[in-house]
Amino acid sequence: MRIIRGTVVTMNPGREIIDNGAVLIDGTEIAAVGRFDEVRAASPDAKVSGSTSDLVAPGYINGHQHLTGDRLIQSSIPDDLPPGESIFTWVVPIHAEHTGDDDELSATLTLAESLTNGITTTFEAGTVAHPDRIARAAEKVGARLTIGTWGWDIEEGPFVGSVDEVVDRQRRMLDLPTGPLVSGWVSLVGHDLMSDELVVAATELARSRQVGMTFHLSPSTSDTESYLARTGRAPVVHLDSLGVLGSHLAIAHGVHLDDDEVALLVGSRTGVISCPWAYLRLGQGLAREFRHLDLWRDGGRLALGCDSENAGDMVDGLRAAALFAGMAKERDLDPTVFGAHDALELLTIRGAEALGVDDRVGSIEVGKQADLVVHDRSRLEWIPQSPDPVLQLVWGSDGRSVRDVYVAGEQVVADKQITAIDVHALTDDAVAAGAALRTRAGIDDVSRWPKI
Ligand SMILES: [Zn+2]
Repeated sequence: MRIIRGTVVTMNPGREIIDNGAVLIDGTEIAAVGRFDEVRAASPDAKVSGSTSDLVAPGYINGHQHLTGDRLIQSSIPDDLPPGESIFTWVVPIHAEHTGDDDELSATLTLAESLTNGITTTFEAGTVAHPDRIARAAEKVGARLTIGTWGWDIEEGPFVGSVDEVVDRQRRMLDLPTGPLVSGWVSLVGHDLMSDELVVAATELARSRQVGMTFHLSPSTSDTESYLARTGRAPVVHLDSLGVLGSHLAIAHGVHLDDDEVALLVGSRTGVISCPWAYLRLGQGLAREFRHLDLWRDGGRLALGCDSENAGDMVDGLRAAALFAGMAKERDLDPTVFGAHDALELLTIRGAEALGVDDRVGSIEVGKQADLVVHDRSRLEWIPQSPDPVLQLVWGSDGRSVRDVYVAGEQVVADKQITAIDVHALTDDAVAAGAALRTRAGIDDVSRWPKI
């Protein structure tokens, strides 16, 4: 048994914050939450970590993260390419050349960075070739992970397959033997890169296995144009006609939606994952559209994501939360509509609800998994402390003040370091693997300004 001390931001139904509070961990679960003196008196033998100046929050949830492909070429794709070019001249060739070793190394680095920034639960975006290696990476660093694997049935590209082949691959993913922190979901690349037959078959699989499902849709206007040309209907309207919407589904992006699409997503309880940094890095129109605000206001299910290391780049949920809050205020020039507290909900309990995991994570409550993030408020950016710790957490801080992290009661980050492995020992491997990957994919190093 272990007691974690600090100001506890519970994210429970009353959104209570406990000054000089404590969380008691028993095994993998939270056994008590309350004032430090009371928790301590009830469990006098438990080891105590932390101090009154720490802030304890539930582990953050990243609903959309590519764990392969981008990591080994992170922040390498130029940010001034025309729409679509980064995907088809960089990302797809890189994914085509990714080996199992690359997958594991890449996921290890991304999940380690995620944990050190307080992200304890990650949902993989559905572009993994070797899911067994990703599972191994998550288990190695101690991250909670839902894995997707590659699914599309277009004419050509890496890992293309028929409907049956793609669904078979998804089924094998769901059957993968994993530890308790890792599970699978049905994932398609999405966009206009899936036939109606495939999305229907994948939905049947997700429903029959009672697991979640995801695909990409409408980060820019191109999916709308393509669906209108092919079906005469907007993407979400068409998908609704196929019967694939529902609470099992979490669509990544959905930036460009019309009013009917917003209503269909809200009404069907379909989740949407917003990755605001990606849309800004790629210039996809978030500042003009931002329908996520309408989804949120209408009671839709919404989560945050960090996307990839060439679309948003840094894997830090608090940065995404602050950006989302700022964009929400900007859209209608109304600072009253959405704020830091709403953004922290998306990163924790409301994100967990959108992704169907709120029975286990997303808040600090007795019986939930002990996924906890401890922020060190002795750091300069926290001095002096605000009377509203959530305002300061979202607007005045970020992942840099994360000191300790627990997943299922296990301490996976101690004093800012991953406990299970020496991440820095992977540096040489990452440099070598990234260079070899670029060579195999035929991609040159690019630097906008000359290196001398
Ligand atoms: Zn993505």
